[in-house]
Amino acid sequence: MKIRILGCGPSNGVPSLSRGFGACDAHNPKNIRTRSSALITTNENQNILIDTGPEVRIQLLKANNPKIDALFFTHIHYDHMGGVNDLSAFLLDKHDKIPVYLTEETARYFKGQLSYLFDSNIAPFELNIIKPYEPFFVGKTKIIPIKQYHGNLISIGYRMDDFAYSTDVKSMEEMGFELLKGIKTWVLGVVSSKRDPNKPESIKHIYLDEAIKWIERISPEKAYLTHMGQKMDYETLCKTLPAYIRPVYDGFEFEA
Ligand SMILES: [Zn+2]
Repeated sequence: MKIRILGCGPSNGVPSLSRGFGACDAHNPKNIRTRSSALITTNENQNILIDTGPEVRIQLLKANNPKIDALFFTHIHYDHMGGVNDLSAFLLDKHDKIPVYLTEETARYFKGQLSYLFDSNIAPFELNIIKPYEPFFVGKTKIIPIKQYHGNLISIGYRMDDFAYSTDVKSMEEMGFELLKGIKTWVLGVVSSKRDPNKPESIKHIYLDEAIKWIERISPEKAYLTHMGQKMDYETLCKTLPAYIRPVYDGFEFEA
């Protein structure tokens, strides 16, 4: 399968309105990060979009506006769902409904966001409720949704064949780690390189040192970091991380 990182930024993007580029080199375009989402093209040539942040329209246009065969959501935060209204543009062109895979909780929020479409029965989406650990299929590709703790929310990571996408996660049950065993490529969300001693520890996101421990435990051939904040300078990460762990950038593509 082919993966394109549409965006790899944190909730407020890089540069952000309040913090600018922070510790990131403002002259490196790889440090310009829109909100996190990814496009997976399966071996059967089906396109799976994971999340619809506020820049999703621009992200998809830059990816040559692919037909979306399935949409997965990780959780309800704005930086992962805020652009979903732009997908209702499909209404105008009378495409088939887009199959959406999401948890019960996310579905409630999703319908609320688009109530003006759902109430008139014209929403161009077909909702499929998923449950953590219960596999489902897109074409012949088996998808395993993995339960993740993200502050006081549950988010969902997705394993598909030998690839997994896990963002907005602070902890997982043992079952989650078990189900990730054997993956070859892992995209993992890390907002910050280290804990700020003047602030309480994040209960929403793992730090870089925690991510490295998880990566060593699962031991994929390649791990990619996404959802990176203003402390995560691209070149600095490339120089300091082992070669099999790389930061990504918006528009980065790879095979998995
Ligand atoms: Zn989140």
